Amino acid sequence: MPKTHAYATHNATLPLEPFNIERRNPGPKDIQIEILYCGVCHSDIHQARNEWGNALYPMVPGHEIIGTVTGLGNEVIGFNIGERVGVGCMVDSCRTCPDCQDHQEQFCNSTTFTYNSPDKISGGNTFGGYSSQIVVNQHFVLHISEKLDPAAAAPLLCAGITTYSPLKHWNVGKGDKVGIIGLGGLGHMGVKFARAMGAHVVLFTTSPGKISDAKRLGAHEVVISKDIEAMQAHRASFDFILNTVAASHNLDSFTELLKRDGTLCLVGVPDQPHPSPSIGNLIFKRRQIAGSLIGGIQETQEMLDFCAEHQIVSVIEIIPMQQINQAYERMLKSDVRYRFVIDLASLKNES
Ligand code: NAP
Ligand code: ZN
Ligand code: ZN
Repeated sequence: MPKTHAYATHNATLPLEPFNIERRNPGPKDIQIEILYCGVCHSDIHQARNEWGNALYPMVPGHEIIGTVTGLGNEVIGFNIGERVGVGCMVDSCRTCPDCQDHQEQFCNSTTFTYNSPDKISGGNTFGGYSSQIVVNQHFVLHISEKLDPAAAAPLLCAGITTYSPLKHWNVGKGDKVGIIGLGGLGHMGVKFARAMGAHVVLFTTSPGKISDAKRLGAHEVVISKDIEAMQAHRASFDFILNTVAASHNLDSFTELLKRDGTLCLVGVPDQPHPSPSIGNLIFKRRQIAGSLIGGIQETQEMLDFCAEHQIVSVIEIIPMQQINQAYERMLKSDVRYRFVIDLASLKNES
């Protein structure tokens, strides 16, 4: 069993610290991956601090993984040693239920998530990408184009697919007016994708300091969501709004910006529920509030190929593993431009 150096947290209030884990020897359909980079998702903070109430400790977070193939089981097809690959939020599912058959593994009742999930193979819990290597079934390993910068591609594995999937599902395209709420890791990818899909893009932010970045990233307009007059100017005009905010807030000021039959899709998962929406806001224009969870493996590969074709990657700040606890604190202050990515080479000095 290959020993693996990692960073873990041992309860909801402790910082992350060095920790050794064991990865399984690759089985016939497994791919062994040396991890080069891992993005830092706000979900890592929610989970490390048990804000969703399902934390399993010790926990090694990380589900935006880019690496190099170092080992292959003898039944693996289509991957080569030395190839650049990615792993996102899932490492296994049942493969037989209707959701799995529809390539929507994220909705399977027995998805194994990349970390903080009971591991049917090892009998323990899964450990994520804040580590030097990982072993994953080939079905959950993605091909990463050499055209993409590997560090800046890491956030595509969660922030990318989580924003791409709902934009595709609700058929966002030319002629649509689309809102993205929050310019963080997910939000900045949402702006890039909605723009690349041809929509008129409006970014809603609580941070006036992000206006010029939002425009550079592709927003046609930026609205400070606390400015009631600026919000009112957009009443009943949006086809679709994607809400990436990681904290509880009132949804009414956004539902009233939707056109008849428009949809507000929630992808942010705050620790506290949002105050209930106004029913009047919904029924008078048949507006909808929906949710979306990452995306299936096939769609993740489609998104990665779309990114290679359109030269889309994340805007990142690379950090050594040793700075992860400071990075969490900065994210909680909305001070991230726009995704932290851990350079796992920094672990080599420790092991
Ligand atoms: P992030 O990088 O921290 O960005 C969140 C952004 O939300 C912030 O940059 C900020 O943008 C805005 N925000 C934060 N606190 C706010 C507040 N109190 N009021 C209003 N706006 C606030 O987080 P992320 O990694 O993008 O993740 C966002 C959320 O999505 C998290 O809850 C995460 O768990 C969830 N998530 C869900 C899925 C899924 O499949 N559904 C997948 C991944 C992540 P401004 O400064 O522009 O206002
Ligand atoms: Zn994530
Ligand atoms: Zn299934």
